[in-house]
Amino acid sequence: MVRIPRPSEPVHLKELWRSELERNRAAAIASIKFGTWFTKPYWNNYKDLLERRGVSLQDLVQAYQMCYQRFVDWVEDKEKWDDAILGLEEQLNALIENGAATILPVEKEPEKLDEHSLLRKEEVQTILRALEAGELESIQPVLDFEKGMVYPSVKKLTKTSDENIAHALDALVEEGFLSSEVVDSVAVCPECGSHRLILQPRCPSCGSGKLVKKPTIQHLSCGYYDFEENFRRGDRLICPKCENPLKALGVDYIRPGLNYRCLSCGSFFPNPRMRYVCSNNHEFFDEEFTLKEVKVYTLNPAKKPHIGRVMLDIKSALQILEDGGFYVEVPTYLRGISGVPLEFSFAVWSNRDARDGGSPPYLVGEVFTSEDAVDVNAVLSFWAKSMDIEAKNKILVAVPGFDDTARNLAKSYNIFLLEGKSVAELDQKMRDLFTKLASAQRK
Ligand SMILES: [Zn+2]
Ligand SMILES: [Zn+2]
Ligand SMILES: [Zn+2]
Repeated sequence: MVRIPRPSEPVHLKELWRSELERNRAAAIASIKFGTWFTKPYWNNYKDLLERRGVSLQDLVQAYQMCYQRFVDWVEDKEKWDDAILGLEEQLNALIENGAATILPVEKEPEKLDEHSLLRKEEVQTILRALEAGELESIQPVLDFEKGMVYPSVKKLTKTSDENIAHALDALVEEGFLSSEVVDSVAVCPECGSHRLILQPRCPSCGSGKLVKKPTIQHLSCGYYDFEENFRRGDRLICPKCENPLKALGVDYIRPGLNYRCLSCGSFFPNPRMRYVCSNNHEFFDEEFTLKEVKVYTLNPAKKPHIGRVMLDIKSALQILEDGGFYVEVPTYLRGISGVPLEFSFAVWSNRDARDGGSPPYLVGEVFTSEDAVDVNAVLSFWAKSMDIEAKNKILVAVPGFDDTARNLAKSYNIFLLEGKSVAELDQKMRDLFTKLASAQRK
């Protein structure tokens, strides 16, 4: 039985959903069912704990969507929040008992990001910018006993964790921005992926670990072989089996090198079986380890023209606001009424004191850069997040823009949209807007 965390009731969201249900019932139910408003922040907040209990994001989303009606009932006061969460927990357990995807994959599967979310990540923008500018030519791995495979050239440029960097690099390969080449490999634990391993030689016959390893001699005349020490009598070498003295190396005896003897069963052998124990105490043998590829990443030349289009330097545009006296965080995590930390591309307060005093931001924004128009789900999830933190103003920024449904929804939610066919166009629009805001702030 898996127990899941019970966050306190997001009263504010409940009110919002209720007014949505009144406005357009079918659309509101579809959005509640889609579930991002709940599953995404819930997962982000309790990811580690849920994973430890064997619950994947997929399990959570699937279970939620199977019992979303309870959350609709909660919005309509037909069900208590705690009971809705309990219902989700029951659904999750039923799903797990029926054997649907509960065992965590061998290599921890990073959360799959769509292109929008991927390109919005600060580390992704940093990597692409550095590659495009030629600041980075190729991204070379370094093996570190503590951290595993790391990319110090990227680490120098961004503040994010090594794990996030690795995920970003692989995701960029998947989206075609980078090419990767396998240049080496490491053995890792098949259960947890740990590369920190202790090797323990074992007797191939009986499995015992009571082994000794010493130089060996084989007496060719009688075929007997044993550790050199058993041939030694004073300063002479005598065969313990046939009692004849050994005459000349390579003529009547050879030294086959180092061999092992098992003190448990007496076997004599050149190669022990290797047992591995990982840093999380999982045990396995040679044939069981997982091979982790060590890769070098380079920019895919075919994607180079596209990169300029997806890179938007929001930091330098936001500098205008900072110069105008605002306090800016890029990106930022804010804890809302629901208690869940939520990520925004940027948030702006009228000054540092407002931020430190816990005031809601004056402005929050999210940036989308990609080849396609941004759809309604992005608007919906941004809206839910910004309501949760009670942001005064909301802005969505996108290249090349939003589709019509997204645009209409944003309008009805009072979300300001900034669109540009190119990064340059959008950058200019952002600068114009921020310049206006900054001069209004000064007055
Ligand atoms: Zn392990
Ligand atoms: Zn002999
Ligand atoms: Zn043995």
